Amino acid sequence: MASLASVLIIGDGTAGTVVANKLKFLAGKRAEVRVVGNSQRHYYKGDFMFIPLKLKDYKECYKPPEFLFNAGIDYVKEEVVRVNVDQRLVTLRSGRTLSYDYLVIASGARLAPEEVPGFEGEARHFYTLQRAMELQEYMDSFQGGNLVIGQCAGPISYPSSTFEFALMARDYLESKGAAPEVQDTLPDAQLRHLF
Ligand SMILES: Cc1cc2nc3c(=O)[nH]c(=O)nc-3n(C[C@H](O)[C@H](O)[C@H](O)COP(=O)(O)OP(=O)(O)OC[C@H]3O[C@@H](n4cnc5c(N)ncnc54)[C@H](O)[C@@H]3O)c2cc1C
Repeated sequence: MASLASVLIIGDGTAGTVVANKLKFLAGKRAEVRVVGNSQRHYYKGDFMFIPLKLKDYKECYKPPEFLFNAGIDYVKEEVVRVNVDQRLVTLRSGRTLSYDYLVIASGARLAPEEVPGFEGEARHFYTLQRAMELQEYMDSFQGGNLVIGQCAGPISYPSSTFEFALMARDYLESKGAAPEVQDTLPDAQLRHLF
């Protein structure tokens, strides 16, 4: 009988959850699948763009992470502080160590709006729940004027959300009587293929 492979996945976001469930489904009892993640809540980030326009309530866009893992997956709610690839060992904040045969790193990307000169304090975004809620307040108080919706250059998750948001924002503002004078401007040449 083939030996049991131990797979350790770091990250309990979309990628870690999908890899864990798919792997367990395909490997069954041939693999031990363990996920380490430190999320209090698993957010469906795609919903963040609807929150500023009151098309979704924030309570609709999250679930407890443990709810999303299929049976047979070991979920450890902790933070990874060190990976030792030579010894195939991962150290958690509590000091506990976990060994593995295969390691999947699915710890996500870090947003860095502060690296865009002038962004903080002037611009808004909907890439986190908190920022989406702040943008809701702003959109609520917007009385008309020039609303510029653009996108930073560089890697950005789900680039078409900018345009989806722009179209929905126009409807939203028209419905509340703050009809904007709309100019459809595509600030990033990379995105022109979308239209
Ligand atoms: C507005 C918006 C709309 C989008 N729409 C779509 C769409 O329609 N379709 C689509 O496919 N994608 C969409 N995306 C993109 C998609 O949401 C992301 O690509 C996806 O959520 C990334 O998942 P991830 O697991 O890689 O990262 P994350 O979701 O960031 O998960 C990483 C996880 O790792 C954990 N973690 C990090 N470091 C550690 C550590 N040291 N120890 C333990 N745990 C750790 C974190 O707590 C987190 O839970 C959208 C994104 C946004 C913002």
